[in-house]
Amino acid sequence: MTTEPRDNLDFIRQEVEKDNASGRYGGRVHTRFPPEPNGYLHVGHAKAICLSFGVAAEYGGLCNLRFDDTNPTKEEQEYVDAIQDDVRWLGFDWGDRLFFASDFFQRLYDDAVRLVQKGVAYVDSQSPEEIRTNRGSLYVPGRDSPYRNRPVAENLELLERMRAGDFDEGACCLRARIDMAHPNMNMRDPIMYRIRKARHHRTGDTWCIYPMYDWAHGQCDSYEGITHSLCTLEFENHRPLYDWFIEQLGIHAPRQIEFARLQLTYTVLSKRKLLELVQDGTVDGWDDPRMPTLRGMRRRGYTPAAIRAFCDHIGIAKFDAIHDVALLEHFLREDLNRTSPRRMVVTDPVELVLTDWPAGKVDELDAVNNPEDPGAGTRKVPFTGRLFVERDDFRENAPRKWHRLAIGQEVRLRYGYYVTVREVEKDADGRIVQLRATHDPASRGGDSPDGRKVRGTIHWVSAEHAVDGELRLYDRLFAVEHPTRGVEGDGWKAHLAPDSLVVRRGAKLEPSLRDAEPGARFQFERVGYFVADLRDHGPGQPVFDRTVALKDSWARLEAKLADA
Ligand code: ATP
Ligand code: MG
Repeated sequence: MTTEPRDNLDFIRQEVEKDNASGRYGGRVHTRFPPEPNGYLHVGHAKAICLSFGVAAEYGGLCNLRFDDTNPTKEEQEYVDAIQDDVRWLGFDWGDRLFFASDFFQRLYDDAVRLVQKGVAYVDSQSPEEIRTNRGSLYVPGRDSPYRNRPVAENLELLERMRAGDFDEGACCLRARIDMAHPNMNMRDPIMYRIRKARHHRTGDTWCIYPMYDWAHGQCDSYEGITHSLCTLEFENHRPLYDWFIEQLGIHAPRQIEFARLQLTYTVLSKRKLLELVQDGTVDGWDDPRMPTLRGMRRRGYTPAAIRAFCDHIGIAKFDAIHDVALLEHFLREDLNRTSPRRMVVTDPVELVLTDWPAGKVDELDAVNNPEDPGAGTRKVPFTGRLFVERDDFRENAPRKWHRLAIGQEVRLRYGYYVTVREVEKDADGRIVQLRATHDPASRGGDSPDGRKVRGTIHWVSAEHAVDGELRLYDRLFAVEHPTRGVEGDGWKAHLAPDSLVVRRGAKLEPSLRDAEPGARFQFERVGYFVADLRDHGPGQPVFDRTVALKDSWARLEAKLADA
């Protein structure tokens, strides 16, 4: 490990290296990820997770998982469980260092008592409205509370009675005694405790006063021995307050460093908005494959490695930037291309009959499982005289440069044979119901028998062996790049894409897909990356979700830029 700060590092790692070099924390690096258990994690949280766990790992340090469960009315055990599951799924491990802010409620209370004893905290009996009004504004200094100079003994007694439940909600609160004229509003005698006669999902009815987030967060970092507390930019203005509390208490001082939130095009990441989509039925739950939640992405077929690679690649910044979701999809494709087995699936089938195929003959052909991974081997795929191909792969009036099926045009069936369509059969409405073709037996395996070339290769499945399945073709949830920009209220919902889910029943699947485990990922050749649905796929009922189409708009953009 180097001790000299290296300048090709992002600003957080540079600061960590400076602290290591100066011995500020004795070379120790200890971070934490502090979710509030009031919703499911999304890809923005993934960035924070990769950063805090990543920095700790790179410097031989530790990273804690801490639930900031200071708000009893919004938090639930369901979220606590789901968040742990998601962090593990992303590939990170907090060992035995699972903490809850609520584990520290007594210690926080004792520390509050110490501040009262020092004369730097007081019980305020103004109404919540008065407190709000007297706080002033950015331009107007606040006004001191008439209760600000209560004697210490009276404050101690009132605080004790608050805790004992003697007062109603809103009757009084505990505030830090800092400076009502401070230019930073967070320093204008911030509230430390408020009365909430609510049951907490972990501490039950033990408490009827709960610490404010700002009173809890910095001390929890300190109690856990955190060295580098990495958080998003909105906490920058809170840092002086956290530092003030720590200094007043004279306890271990972590160092907070802020970075910009992740934002993505075509995506909303606010928990409140995501909850709305779930509640109004726009999506089918938190794990809907269109949701940017880790649950949704997992069900969609995202790999943890792809999300980590994306987070690594974008790095961190001090200013808000919006990343192109196509970049995330690019990392997803890169990973899936390396790792997913190939299969053949016909999404919109039309029958192709080989008139010269020996009756009853089944030819077991070898198909390569993954051209990117020779270790993945081959599988047998049955070929017969009655096949399904994509309706869209045939043209009656083919345009110039059409390399797929057309009357008289020879085409390769992947891993199969060269075939030539001779005639088509239509129903009364003029819709094609069958393509009749001949094949060249010498082209078995898809190899040219005599050096003659075909330009097109298409996928197929044997009709009698095919498995019927449902394909859910997912696309981006929003139709515009910036759904929340320049709209008011519910306006962002007008940007929901109408076709973010198209269900295709009656797809014809290669028989080996019958046994796919839920969550198994594949590339359906020429069609896209798909995953066996985690909820609905099962024996006798194949359901596959489209993870992402094959076309990589990001790679094309990069290639264009490289050419320019
Ligand atoms: P929201 O405000 O969207 O409802 P939150 O940020 O309050 O969510 P928390 O559970 O408090 O949600 O977040 C846990 C941690 O994840 C925090 O440290 C927060 O800074 C970080 N985080 C949340 N959203 C993002 C994001 N979009 N990009 C990076 N980090 C994020
Ligand atoms: Mg938060």
